[in-house]
Amino acid sequence: MSDQTPRFRQVLDQFAGYKPGKAPSLRRGTSVKLSANESPYDPLPSVVGVIAEAATRANRYPDNAAVELTSAIASRFGVPPAHVAVGCGSVGVMQQLLEAVGEPGAEVLFAWRSFEAYPYLTELANATRVEVPLRDYGHDLPAMAAAITDRTRLIFVCTPNNPTGTVVGHAELTEFLDQVPEDCLVVLDEAYVQYVRDPDAADGLALYASRPNVALLRTFSKAYGLAGLRVGYLIGHEPVTQAVRKTLLPFAVNSLGQAAAVASLAAEPELVDRVERVIKERDRVRHELLGQGWTVPPAEGNFVWLPLAERAAEFAEACDAAGVAVRPYMPDGVRVTIADAPANDAFLAAAADYPHRA
Ligand SMILES: *Cc1c(COP(=O)(O)O)cnc(C)c1O
Repeated sequence: MSDQTPRFRQVLDQFAGYKPGKAPSLRRGTSVKLSANESPYDPLPSVVGVIAEAATRANRYPDNAAVELTSAIASRFGVPPAHVAVGCGSVGVMQQLLEAVGEPGAEVLFAWRSFEAYPYLTELANATRVEVPLRDYGHDLPAMAAAITDRTRLIFVCTPNNPTGTVVGHAELTEFLDQVPEDCLVVLDEAYVQYVRDPDAADGLALYASRPNVALLRTFSKAYGLAGLRVGYLIGHEPVTQAVRKTLLPFAVNSLGQAAAVASLAAEPELVDRVERVIKERDRVRHELLGQGWTVPPAEGNFVWLPLAERAAEFAEACDAAGVAVRPYMPDGVRVTIADAPANDAFLAAAADYPHRA
């Protein structure tokens, strides 16, 4: 037998694929998962009922055009249904966008550190990534504007930024968008928009409405608590939604997810109540961490960021030993998801026990 193996694209040798946040290892009694920015709450009973009902028709293909969900999203935000495109999670829509722009020479620009899917999905799409370092844990929009070339096809602006939690301001984003060529698409990744309370934060819907080259990415995974069902969407003008409809994997949004997302929009008041509870906990956790002596940038998502640099892995290990899974990003810091009060308290106790704060 020869030692030849099937040949794959060289780009696959450069990365390991997406690494999800770990579950806690069960070394002690407590076991708390604060590593994936999930909702700590079970799906609403009304939504579970709809999912169960949809399961009885699972022998049928889902609606490929997701007509009911698309129109529910459109009416929720007061936009035309033609301006909405759904996908398999917002990472699915992200991949559709990258497939729509990716070709040798095309540049995709984003801040770094930011959402870890951007670099590898860009490479997979045969495009070139251009990463602009964060400044004070937030987007350095002037530096990003300076990095635009005539090859820039797509710019991701993640606000709140995963994993640092900062938002871009409306005025600074407007000034940035004024410098972006009209043939270059800017995608605001708003996975955590429901958690934002900073009054100066960018209003994505207003910016999209007046700019054909701006689109929003949103998801049912975080505030709506449906991470397991994989439904995300884009709001943008028709040339953009048409492009991503063409790169959609057929039937990528399954029928349980479509039904659950429609039911979640209908149950929004209950979900808003949960979001408010997480925001209260976020502000409490940040306040207590500051009191313990940690550096914690302003947090506008359902997570906080500890800029521990090289000590990120060691701190995550210490938390894990206390039964709390958090998410280290070497060599920058640790992201900690906000959950319910007992889980957050378990994390705060682990943080208080850690000797070397920063
Ligand atoms: C979680 C997350 C997403 C992905 O969400 P899905 O809809 O579950 O694919 C997208 N962008 C950012 C910044 C995220 O943190």
